[in-house]
Amino acid sequence: MQALVFDLGGTHLRCGVADASALRHVTKVRIDNFLGGHPPREIARRLVARMKAYEASVRAGLSPVAPIVVSFPGPVAERRRTLDAPTLFGRAPDPPDLAADLRRHSLRDVVVLNDLSAAAWRLSATYGVHRFLVVAISSGIGSKIFDARHPDGVLDDPPHAGEIGHTTVSWAPDAPRCDCGGMGHLGAIASGRGLERLARQRAAIEPAAFGESLCVTRFGARAETLTNEDHLVPAAIAGDRWSLAVVRDGTRPLARTLATVVLAAGVTRVVVTGGFASALGDVYVTLLRELLRDACDYRLMPCPTADLVQLADPGEEVCLEGAAAYARHLHCARRVAS
Ligand SMILES: [Zn+2]
Repeated sequence: MQALVFDLGGTHLRCGVADASALRHVTKVRIDNFLGGHPPREIARRLVARMKAYEASVRAGLSPVAPIVVSFPGPVAERRRTLDAPTLFGRAPDPPDLAADLRRHSLRDVVVLNDLSAAAWRLSATYGVHRFLVVAISSGIGSKIFDARHPDGVLDDPPHAGEIGHTTVSWAPDAPRCDCGGMGHLGAIASGRGLERLARQRAAIEPAAFGESLCVTRFGARAETLTNEDHLVPAAIAGDRWSLAVVRDGTRPLARTLATVVLAAGVTRVVVTGGFASALGDVYVTLLRELLRDACDYRLMPCPTADLVQLADPGEEVCLEGAAAYARHLHCARRVAS
């Protein structure tokens, strides 16, 4: 078994060759995206050229029928078509189907996985539970359910599966706008970006309390320039009450949503990932467990302890390794079918 695997992010492309037991020839290259002023077609053309160049560099030891498996930063249909990738193409009205381009130019079978689905495949090797939810808290919020007893593994078909970040959780007239254009969506409120926005708003309307917080006294924040990285996160980790209240209040709608998913889908573990959650680490998962306890006191709800909510520590290559794990799964599934 062999597969060419790629992890396409917003700024980097990771490449590797997977076989039954290992991932080899791993490389990482910087790529062009919409921030460089290129139109989507040109970005796609350059990406396919990068992937082709990598294929050429490893072709000597590669089977001509090895498929390509891509972890992709956006929604995917039938694991064959890429629908959109705002981090790559920006807000393009008609984003190109990168999978179709790659199929045409490589003459190989091309399978595409949403990046969070790829992460779920990788995490399934770590978490020995049958059914878990992986939830990413970064600039937005996304989730996927992995079920080891389901033939698809990750339940990501249809493409809206797991898009919990786009449920409306605030109907206030000044509710923040989501990247998708909607108002008051979970991803605009409980994400890293949403919490940073909330912190700035509160800092502006309660200057005295903000002025006494560690954001200001230790980390030198100002209301209009406060950031997660330099102020809110380090202050919350240091136990600052004002910062913890911001994170707690902004995260409450996420806990309510997660409680519903736990009850609806019967997941027995929630694996937390994403840049914002990882930066806060134990502070974040401790707070999320408390909020889950507040969100649901039903006696059959699993107790929100360390068993239910865990922080993933997947490492940089999680999506590339996930693509490799999926390639192995595909190989086994096809062998059984034939
Ligand atoms: Zn949205």
